[in-house]
Amino acid sequence: MSDRPDRLPGFSTAKLAQTTALLVGAGGLNCWVALGLARKGIGALRICDGDLVEASNLNRQFFSRDDLFQSKAVCLARNAAANSWLGSSCTGFECDFDEDSAGMLSDRVDVAVVGVDGNPARALASRHFRKCGIPAVFLGVSEDAEHRWTFIQGRDGPCVGCVFPRVAAALGTRQPCRDVPAVLDCLLESAGAALRAVDAIVMGRAICWNFDAFHLADSVGGWRATVTQRTGCKLCGHGS
Ligand SMILES: [Zn+2]
Repeated sequence: MSDRPDRLPGFSTAKLAQTTALLVGAGGLNCWVALGLARKGIGALRICDGDLVEASNLNRQFFSRDDLFQSKAVCLARNAAANSWLGSSCTGFECDFDEDSAGMLSDRVDVAVVGVDGNPARALASRHFRKCGIPAVFLGVSEDAEHRWTFIQGRDGPCVGCVFPRVAAALGTRQPCRDVPAVLDCLLESAGAALRAVDAIVMGRAICWNFDAFHLADSVGGWRATVTQRTGCKLCGHGS
């Protein structure tokens, strides 16, 4: 793989080919990230999700009728691998990311992308990746499918709970994105921001934002910001 040409300034196909990424969740948020990372030539892609593909997923997720009622993680790994012209190794794990599976799933992982729809799972992932020193990109879409957000959690500095106190408190139930095709705008925007974030992490590029959001109803469309640590954050314990 190291003999592949680097066609863009600062872009190293070799670095990407040496990278292992873990996708937590194989639904609408992460399915397009999987496709993008496979096409970019990520070395290894691990995907975990305990859910099965349902008919209502097909309008906005990277699955076909052949995948119905099978493991989302396994199907997504197979579909991503079929689009991996540069030879990515893609593995699906039919399990949720939890206290029992986190260690195995994140072993020797370089970067994680957390595309789940519940705050308890986000809080667990935030704590785990911070403890392991693994940078993690968190993705979310609003329940009404009107906006989406991306947050880059580094090895130190602000955590996702610094941005969202409800995540820090692990409050709320799962919020699956609406099963309407209209939400695809947000999901593809989200995948684009996630790929940009992973690229910056892997290539060691300077990036002037750690939070990115997009609103369909906003005439400007989206905005980016640099979030700092929040004193009293229950997740990372800043200031306590
Ligand atoms: Zn925090």
